[in-house]
Amino acid sequence: MDGMPIYDTTKSCATRLDRDDPLRRFRRYFHLPRGMIYMDGNSLGLPSKAAETALLHTLDEWKCLGIRGWLDGRPPWFYLAERLGERAAPLVGATPDEVVATGTTTVNIHALISTFYKPHGKRRKILATALDFPTDIYALKGQLALHGLDPGECLELAPATDGRFFSENDIAARISDETALVFLPSVLYRSGQLLDIPFLVQAAHRHGIPIGFDCAHSVGAVPHHFDASEVDFAVWCGYKYLNGGPGCSAFLYVNRNHFHREPLLAGWFGHVKETQFDMHLDFEHQPSAGGWQISSPGILGASTLMGSLGIHLEAGMEAVRRKSLRLTAYLMFLVDELLTAAPYSFRIGTPREPGRRGGHVALERAEEAWRICEALKARGVVPDFRPPDILRIAPVALYNTYTEVWQVVRHLRAIIDGEEYQRFSPLRKAIS
Ligand SMILES: *Cc1c(COP(=O)(O)O)cnc(C)c1O
Repeated sequence: MDGMPIYDTTKSCATRLDRDDPLRRFRRYFHLPRGMIYMDGNSLGLPSKAAETALLHTLDEWKCLGIRGWLDGRPPWFYLAERLGERAAPLVGATPDEVVATGTTTVNIHALISTFYKPHGKRRKILATALDFPTDIYALKGQLALHGLDPGECLELAPATDGRFFSENDIAARISDETALVFLPSVLYRSGQLLDIPFLVQAAHRHGIPIGFDCAHSVGAVPHHFDASEVDFAVWCGYKYLNGGPGCSAFLYVNRNHFHREPLLAGWFGHVKETQFDMHLDFEHQPSAGGWQISSPGILGASTLMGSLGIHLEAGMEAVRRKSLRLTAYLMFLVDELLTAAPYSFRIGTPREPGRRGGHVALERAEEAWRICEALKARGVVPDFRPPDILRIAPVALYNTYTEVWQVVRHLRAIIDGEEYQRFSPLRKAIS
């Protein structure tokens, strides 16, 4: 990569990288948990001061305006979902009306699959992958069952070459005249592999079928170009790299070529806005992504995104991606140098090529990965764990530093040197 800095293992290297970081000031925009090195922004992003302000502002509107907040709030609550869609659109390369903040990722998968999955004749299969996030598979199986089809026959899961990665060619080769729809992750939640979206879109479109993406692990870390790539539809959540807070509103994207299609999980908030409150019993959907909304938007939960998306727009997706790639490259460099040989014995389960990875790095260790994760937490580092043997480390461009990455690696070495993990229970908790 152009201008990629040369790393070494000294602390002064980390200090220099932080000093030269063009996004350095953004760390101060966030509330950082005291005494913690937070490396879990791919699961739950941290709160920004702007998100807090936006939430308190909305709470105040509720107090002062009551129901009048729907039209008199700033922005009016009635249009908040669409306004948030406009703000998020540049992050994914969409026009403002192709994105809306609504529902949750899983509900949005259901809403969009109900529109885009149209089995007919022998075209009945949905193609997904064997390494999908489980909720995606549950939703796809449910959608097949709603059509009276057997998921065992009609859900095709592309197998991973080595349990971690896919070759896009292999996925594309599975699309046939029996495939009705392709639905894939952008970034795999375990290994962090970034799939080649434009290539996969072309493969689906050569067969004349639609393709959608679950971008929960990429939006906010990886720039997307949905319109230019001719993606048909996509979903992603607001609480990971977009820092909207636990359970906050998610997003969906519908390519404008499909605005005429029917949202079959219809609800009154998808109705044409001008006449929604005429309360007709015939559903006429808004000809925009907003047409796929179902219910009243969770205004409090969505309000935080007004603040946090502003930060993303100020920083710019390209700058965020540049730093994110440097943070993960630096982490992988330190792991190669300091944590790969015995007795450390970690291996990197994430693609090395910058164009093939998202925002986190998977560290694999055949033994004791879970207890090492616990020992790391006891030292104030927050990674997460994915069974059977993966520690995911997500240094986030907007609020993490190179020095923190350096410290994480030091902690891991110390935990192994002192066999510190021996003190922890091998039993996993409900949320790891
Ligand atoms: C986090 C995540 C989800 C979460 O779905 P919710 O409905 O928000 O709970 C779904 N899919 C992927 C790929 C994810 O990473």
